[in-house]
Amino acid sequence: MSETLFTKIMAGEIPSDILYEDEHCIAIRDINPQAPVHVLLIPRQVIPRLVDAQLEDQALLGHLLQTAGKVATQLGIGDTFRLVVNNGEGAGQTVFHLHLHIMGGQGFDEGRLAR
Ligand code: 5GP
Repeated sequence: MSETLFTKIMAGEIPSDILYEDEHCIAIRDINPQAPVHVLLIPRQVIPRLVDAQLEDQALLGHLLQTAGKVATQLGIGDTFRLVVNNGEGAGQTVFHLHLHIMGGQGFDEGRLAR
């Protein structure tokens, strides 16, 4: 398995604020939040980009979506949150280990997160 920033976080080599973990994934607070609640949900398995996911990753992808809802609910934003996946450098991806951004904690203004 290749090393990424997130495998180092999962190994405890880099400190993070862990909000949830199970055998398949981990949720941590984003170090540079773009919303009052900004959490990263990361599979333990390294899939560099969403587009690299294979047929055999379907169950994991489903688990991530379901867990995102669970974590959002646990954080009190279960009724109003946004999920974002940046795929590729041009889309703003900086860590090449698939992750879901869970963002919320305030109203959405015309579909955008109000700042
Ligand atoms: P991307 O830009 O790849 O979609 O998202 C990567 C995210 O990781 C960014 O939102 C960035 O703030 C976050 N990040 C980068 N380094 C760290 C870190 O060391 N700890 C945590 N918790 N988040 C990080």
